[in-house]
Formats: sequence, C-alpha cells, structure tokens
Amino acid sequence: MKRSDDNSKNNRSDDARMIITTGAMEPDSIKLFDSGLSFDPAVSHNDYIAALEDEKRNLGEALSVYIHLPFCPSRCLSCDHQTTVSHDHKQIDRYLDKLEVEVELVTEHLGKGRRLQQLHLGGGTPNYLSEVQLVRLVDILDKHFTIDAQTESSLEANAQRASVAQLSLLHGLGFRTLNLELRDLDPTVQQALGRHQSLPVIRDVVDNARQIGFETIATDLVYGLPMQSAASVQRTVDELLALAPDRISCYTYSRRANLFQHQRAIDSAQLPSIADKVAIFSRIVDKFCGSDYEWIGLDCFAREQDSISEAHRNGTLHRNWIGYTAQSGRGVIGFGSSSMTDLSSICVQNHANIDQWSESIERGELPMSAAARLSPNVRARRHALSDLMCNLHLNDDQHTLLDPNQEYPAIKALTEEGLIEVEGNRLTMTEAGRYTLHQAWGDSSPVYRWRTIA
Ligand code: SF4
Repeated sequence: MKRSDDNSKNNRSDDARMIITTGAMEPDSIKLFDSGLSFDPAVSHNDYIAALEDEKRNLGEALSVYIHLPFCPSRCLSCDHQTTVSHDHKQIDRYLDKLEVEVELVTEHLGKGRRLQQLHLGGGTPNYLSEVQLVRLVDILDKHFTIDAQTESSLEANAQRASVAQLSLLHGLGFRTLNLELRDLDPTVQQALGRHQSLPVIRDVVDNARQIGFETIATDLVYGLPMQSAASVQRTVDELLALAPDRISCYTYSRRANLFQHQRAIDSAQLPSIADKVAIFSRIVDKFCGSDYEWIGLDCFAREQDSISEAHRNGTLHRNWIGYTAQSGRGVIGFGSSSMTDLSSICVQNHANIDQWSESIERGELPMSAAARLSPNVRARRHALSDLMCNLHLNDDQHTLLDPNQEYPAIKALTEEGLIEVEGNRLTMTEAGRYTLHQAWGDSSPVYRWRTIA
C-alpha cells in the first residue's frame, strides 16, 4: 500500500501519539477488546473430552494444529515465551515421548486422520531440534492427522541454527513457511537483549530458503525494546527491506517481569517511553507502507501478492492463535506445554510447567491447566473482535454485540478520542486507532495473550 498523502498520515500518527501521551489510553478504555472470556475452574477434563468428542461431528472439516517446542540454547532477556534453556538433547527426546502420548490422547477423542489446514511449530526454538527429532515429530503428526499439499506448514526458526541441510530437510517434510525470529537487527539493541545474530548469516538463510523452495519467508520485528529509537528501527527496517521477506509481524515488547524474571535484567531506563514507542511504530508503518508492503490488520506487513494481503483487501482475513490466515477454520488444537486449544465451545490452556505437563500425560490425562466454556455470545464477540482486528470494521450484526450502552461504554470514549468511528450500526477503526490501539491489543485481549499459568 503506497500512501498518496503522507502529510495527512503524519498528522494522524501525531494525533495517535498525542492520545497516548495525554493518557487517553487508560486501561479501562481498552475494555472494548474484552471478549468476555475468562477461566472457569468448574470446567473439567471431562468437559474438554466432551468438546473433543463433539468435534467428531465435523470430521470432514479441517483443523489447525500448534505444537509448542519450548527449548532454546540460551535465554534472551526480553523473552516472554514459555521456554527452557537446555543443552541436553535427551530432554527433548523425553518431551517428544510425552508429546506423542498427548497427540494419541487427544485424537482418541477427536478422531484420527483429521485434515490439517495449518500446522505450526512454535517455541522456543523449533529448529533447535536435531534432524532425527524433527523427522520423528512430523512422523507423529502424520500418523494422527492428514497433512497434505494444501496444509500451510510453518515453523519459527533461529537463523543462526538453520543450515542448508536442515532447511532442505524441513522443506522435504512439507514446511513451506519459515518464520525467522529476529526481534531487531541493531547491534546495540541486540546487545541489550543478550542476543547475537549475524546479518550475513540471516541473508544466507533467506537466500538458501528461497532456493530450496520455501514459499513464504516471514520475520518478526519487536518495538519498545531497550536502546531502540525511531532512528535505530529505521536502520533495521532498511535491512529488512533489503532481505525482502514476504511478511513482517510487528509486536510491542511486553514487560511482564513478574512472570519472566529474566526481564528484570533489562534496565528499564533504557526502554523507550510510550510516546517514543508510537514514534517508532509510526516510522515502521511509514517505511513498510512506503515500500512494497501492505499494512495488514493492526500489526503485520505483507507483500501485495501474499495470500493474507489479498484476504485483507477482500475483507476476508482471519486470525487465530497461530496468526493471520486467509483460511477460515474450525479451530486450533495445541500440543505441548503451555499451548492453547481453541474450539468452538471451549478454550483450554495446557500446563506451562513442563514437569506438570509431563506428569499429567503420564497419568493418562489431557494436560489441561485451565479452561473456559464459550457461550454463543462470547463466541460471537470473539469472532467480532477478531474481525475488527483483521478487517478494521464490524458489520451491523457484529456491532450489536458491542452495545455501548450495555457492556462497552468505552466505545463512546474511543469514539471521542477519534480511535473508532460509529456510523449507524457500522463500527470502523480509524487510522489513528490503528496506530494507537496496537499498543493495547496484545495484552488486553485474552484471545491473543491469555493469562499465563506459571
Ligand atoms: S526470544 Fe526466542 S530465542 Fe530468545 S529465549 Fe525466547 S523463544 Fe528463545
């Protein structure tokens, strides 16, 4: 998306910056994004089993699968994923042993051979697994699900570990999307995060992946990191533009040091202020949109020919626990510690603690740590919020789910701040809202960042 009116855009991002710095984004005002989903201690394992059995009625429809592989060779100070640092590959073997049993337990109720529309390996660092372990993992999944040429198979990867041999193996196993975890390429920022990545190595990996046949190269870009500024992020974006990935997912750094104690090692005096974060995000938007990328939803940039760009243009973009997708689907089944299962009637989070997750499976139980039932109303609201995040507006029916006089008085405040517009029954996110609400969405929506169980 090229911008024809840069001055007017700059004014809007300045408006967004002012809204944040003047405190209009109080926590209460983001309740707009509360889908009403909350954990319910009364939801039992039997309820989870019943929900899986219920899904059997839809055997002909495809599902998505997310596998959490929590192992990393070292810990980045900013990390807010459930990870464990390990140099013992036998520990990963033992994890795969349990994962195999978990897949067996779940598919016993869900039915075997269900077609997958999406398969995603997340972590952690999935390509920290050895080649034998990667083959074993895909073999486990192949035995229980139908993975075919239409399945969008993707994995997160550390470029420093992605050899040509490993990329060839992954491609041979059916993976077509490589998500390189970069965070930021500036050496000073990397140093502050305790990360070290070589730009020439990243370039080689991108070139090799393309030559081998990966169809989509995706990267992340995190803003709000220590030592980051609008100028430093501009250099990072220039380097990303030279790499020309197909998609860039842009996240705001979330400091949750009570859950992730290693984040305390980051000097908070080095963190950009919230106003600086808006300036950094504005620079990111300017750079990508001034180049060959479209701004997708709130937080992603993709090339014009990418399937999610086309879906965004058509107003048919979807988002689930794995990320943006052009395909609508019945739900996501999560396997591994801390993973989430999201079906039409229930949301389940697995134990995040690997020992608790393993012990549960050893007892022959589904490793559920918490869950929520989805009433038809909550389900519809989640759907509406997802639509708003993807397609930036709600249609008439969906808007009635967000009645400002009943459950969402924040709509009025956000309208007054110019972040959303309501015309009749149509609710649209403004461009200022797109800049501003991105800051709040990640932590406010339990759909996208649910409570972490320690
Ligand atoms: S940020 Fe990524 S590579 Fe770093 S510790 Fe977390 S999951 Fe591992």
